[in-house]
Amino acid sequence: MFKALLLDQVDNVTRVSIEDIDDIQLASGNVVVDIDYSSLNYKDGLAITGKGKIIRNFPMVPGIDFSGRVAESSDSRFKTGDSVVLTGWGVGETHWGGMAEKACVNADWLVPLPDNLDAKKTMMIGTAGLTAMLCVDVLIEAGVAPEQGEILVTGASGGVGSVAVTLLAQLGYQVVVLSGRSEENRALLTRLGASRIIDRSAFEEPAKPLEKQCWAGAVDTVGSHVLAKLLAQMQYGGAVSACGLAGGFDLPTTVMPFILRGVKLLGVDSVMCPIQKRQKAWTRLSELLPDSFYQQACREIELKDVPAYAEAITQGKVTGRVVIKL
Ligand code: NAP
Repeated sequence: MFKALLLDQVDNVTRVSIEDIDDIQLASGNVVVDIDYSSLNYKDGLAITGKGKIIRNFPMVPGIDFSGRVAESSDSRFKTGDSVVLTGWGVGETHWGGMAEKACVNADWLVPLPDNLDAKKTMMIGTAGLTAMLCVDVLIEAGVAPEQGEILVTGASGGVGSVAVTLLAQLGYQVVVLSGRSEENRALLTRLGASRIIDRSAFEEPAKPLEKQCWAGAVDTVGSHVLAKLLAQMQYGGAVSACGLAGGFDLPTTVMPFILRGVKLLGVDSVMCPIQKRQKAWTRLSELLPDSFYQQACREIELKDVPAYAEAITQGKVTGRVVIKL
């Protein structure tokens, strides 16, 4: 038997409970993992509250990521006791996920933990951190260098945003953050590496097709009119990595930033990201994140606390990363 958070749906209403589940009910896969930590992401919040159509089949164990130790494996790449991390691949959406003491998954989805990361630190990074690393790498590949000017990070208090700020600052970029909680989180954002903080209200006015050129690069976790505004403010040749929709999935923009300033809008997905790219990103995360990140921007909860935190993350009220101890 193992403990799990279980989601069910009755009359289109999502019900959440903590259940003891027989091992025989584990989802199909060739590696069983004893889970140490899962983490809470915006997508988990949408799934658990039922606010987003994330779950395809019920009952479902949510949790789009986890870290733990291999308990049983019929795949030669993994043996009992190996430390592993899993993010994405539809886990916690179509396949039972990380908010449980055990999971059974496909070996192709697992990444061995880099030597200098333990299970807790790995989930402090989690899907959000992996996505932030991919966003930063996309900017670097697009040729955005520290000497070219300031980088804007939107949704900066959140999971992806807070890791992106930390990584960019560690790499020597001048990081400006856009936050709806600029006063509440000023000290944290500054400690993570923000050199300047802009309140989200400054981005409320609809974007003109082109505005004053401010940013050499940007990491956007918000979408909608915030992304439209920052596109209009990009420097000539600048690049934006877009990964999120915390403010909405629309994009009320024009072609002007692209055809008159050569701005690049680069999509980032961590869910189906190829395994080699993930391994490289995890190694870089393990090397780049300073100890202060783990002390400042993370908190630990238990399964029973998850529903309240899930509600809070969908309301933009969670700061930094939340890990769940199994
Ligand atoms: P999160 O922790 O909830 O952070 C989102 C942040 O966005 C909030 O902390 C808040 O920051 C800001 N925000 C919230 N509501 C907003 C609104 N209505 N308008 C403007 N800003 C708002 O979520 P997360 O886990 O970091 O994920 C961020 C986004 O990235 C989500 O949309 C998520 O689905 C997406 N994501 C995508 C991928 C991928 O593979 N593409 C992977 C992971 C996450 P402030 O209070 O500082 O403004």
